[in-house]
Amino acid sequence: MSIAEIFARKKTEGRPVFSFEIFPPKKDSPVDTIYRTLDGLQGMSPDFISVTFGAGGSGKDQPTRDIAALIQGQYHIPALAHLTCVNYSRQEIASLLEDLKAAEITNILALRGDINPNIPPHTDFHYAAELISFIKEQGDFHVSAACYPEGHCECPDLVTDVLNLRKKVDAGAEHLVSQLFFDNNLFYSFVERARIAGINVPIEAGIMPVVNKRQIERMVSLCGASLPAKFSRMMSRYSDRPEALRDAGIAYAVDQIVDLISNGVEGIHLYTMNNPQVARRIWDNVSSLL
Ligand code: FAD
Repeated sequence: MSIAEIFARKKTEGRPVFSFEIFPPKKDSPVDTIYRTLDGLQGMSPDFISVTFGAGGSGKDQPTRDIAALIQGQYHIPALAHLTCVNYSRQEIASLLEDLKAAEITNILALRGDINPNIPPHTDFHYAAELISFIKEQGDFHVSAACYPEGHCECPDLVTDVLNLRKKVDAGAEHLVSQLFFDNNLFYSFVERARIAGINVPIEAGIMPVVNKRQIERMVSLCGASLPAKFSRMMSRYSDRPEALRDAGIAYAVDQIVDLISNGVEGIHLYTMNNPQVARRIWDNVSSLL
C-alpha cells in the first residue's frame, strides 16, 4: 500500500497517521539490534516505518533496503525507504531502484542528502526534485519528500524554500515528512505557507523526543531547529539529572503531539532513534488519540 493511500484511509477514519523512523545499526553494532528495535516497535501498530539511508555515499551495501524488506516481509508493516542522490550517478540510482523494486519496496523518501565537504557531489542530481522525476520515470514507485518548517539551512528565505518544496510535489512527491521542530507554531505557519503555495499533499509532523544532552547538542548543530524558551529552561534545569531530563523530554514530545493532533495534523512521524522504550512511553500517552 502506498503512503498516500494510508493517509487517505486514515482521513476517512478521522484519525492521524502514526509512523516511525529508524536507522540501520552502525557497522560495528551486532545486526540483531535491529530485531530488538523492530520487536519493540511493532506492538504499537505503526502505519508505516521509514528507514534512513547512509549519508555521504556510504549506503551502497544497502542496509536500508534489507531492513525495509524485513519490516514488510517479517513484520507486515509498510516500509518507506529513504534514498539520497547527491553522491550518485543516474546509473547507480537506477540500479539501487531496481534492487528496491526486486525487494518489493515501492515507497521511497527521495532526498538530495547533505553535501559532505570532503566528498565532491556527483553532477547528475543537484536537488531532490530531480531525483523524484527520475524515480517516477523508472516505474511504479510512490515518492515522499522532506520539508522544513523553519526553512532548509541553505535556503535564503522561507518563501523561496516553500517554492522549492512545490517543485518536489510537482515532480511527483505524494507525501511530505517534516524536519524535527520544538515549536508547533512554526509548523502551523509552515503548513499555511505550503497550502498557499498550492501544496496539497499530506504533511506529516516530525517529532523527536530529546532524551539526553548529547542528542540535543547534535540535533541543533545538524538541523538548526530553534529552541523555545520553555524547552531551553527544561534542558538547563535537568541537564545534570539524566533520568529527569529523559522524563521531561518525553513529556515535551507528548505535549507537542497532543497539541498537533488537537489542531488536526494529518500525521505524526516519530524519530525513534532506534529506542523502542522511549517510543513506547510516548505511545502509551497518546494511543487513545490515534
Ligand atoms: P532539496 O529538496 O533538494 O533541497 C536542498 C536545498 O536546495 C534547499 O535549501 C532547497 O530550498 C534548495 N533547492 C531545492 N530546489 C532548488 C532549485 N531548483 N534551485 C535552487 N535551490 C533549490 N539525509 C540522509 O543522508 N539520509 C536520510 O535518510 C535522510 N532522511 C531525512 C528525512 C527527513 C524527514 C528530513 C527532513 C531530512 C533527511 N535527511 C537525510 C537530511 C537531508 O538529506 C538534508 O536535509 C539535505 O540537506 C536536503 O535534502 P532535501 O531532499 O530536502 O533537498
